[in-house]
Amino acid sequence: MDIDLSGRTALVTGGSRGIGRAIALSLAEAGADVAVNYRGNAEAAAEVVGRIEAMGRRARAYAASVENFDEDEAMVAAVLADFGAIDILVNNAGIASRGNSVADTDPAEMERVVAVHAFGPHYLCKLVIPQMRARGRGDIIMISSVATLGMAGRGGPYNMGKAAMEALALTVAKEERGNGIRCNIVAPSLTVTEMGSRLAKATRGIADIHELDAASPFGRVSTPQDVASAVTWLVSSANPYANGQKININGGG
Ligand code: NAP
Repeated sequence: MDIDLSGRTALVTGGSRGIGRAIALSLAEAGADVAVNYRGNAEAAAEVVGRIEAMGRRARAYAASVENFDEDEAMVAAVLADFGAIDILVNNAGIASRGNSVADTDPAEMERVVAVHAFGPHYLCKLVIPQMRARGRGDIIMISSVATLGMAGRGGPYNMGKAAMEALALTVAKEERGNGIRCNIVAPSLTVTEMGSRLAKATRGIADIHELDAASPFGRVSTPQDVASAVTWLVSSANPYANGQKININGGG
């Protein structure tokens, strides 16, 4: 089945690097115009915008820290002024937690990590859904993690943030299906990005993430494109009925 997103506009948070970058490029390849959100690395966001424009699509970069409601409000207003609508919201922006036990975690770290993964997506859903309701179809994707399958120790802030994000997704899926909006979760395992490389080093002492290839499903660690493929299918008309679902991109575990 062909995937055609032409005529639709996507807002991808953390679209400047890693998994978000691959999602932004994949949605554009399928025909979407893309608003690329980033936090601080304007150069990386500009590179993604340039690649999308080279495909003949519209793209623009927007700086905003997703956990800041005022910055989200300004960003959504700017995207709507520039593109006219937001049909697809991908809540991808994320940060790792520091790897401490609950007893050793600074409350400020917990608050920051949960705010990025759960408060930010809530703010953006609140801001984007009203105009999405009038579009016939809308799609919201939460990039969670397989972390919520295991809830490993020393991951308290991240586990809490992703669990709350998934709760938000399942709630929105029920609230908004009557308005043609689907909300689904895509949950990567360890993926080849800057965050993935840092995690491999911090949790397993591995300098090069590809040292894990041989022991991984299909003989390789997951790539951002593996995650982007699932997102692109979920938000397209090739997916008419999957809503409130979670796809683990982990090669089967
Ligand atoms: P990454 O390589 O570190 O890239 C993070 C992206 O998010 C960057 O574009 C960054 O923008 C942006 N960002 C970070 N904090 C932000 C904030 N507060 N507001 C707005 N943008 C922000 O990370 P990644 O590996 O691609 O991870 C993407 C998502 O996948 C995250 O939600 C992560 O939890 C999840 N995930 C990753 C893995 C993995 O192994 N990589 C596994 C499971 C789940 P700047 O460039 O401006 O800093």
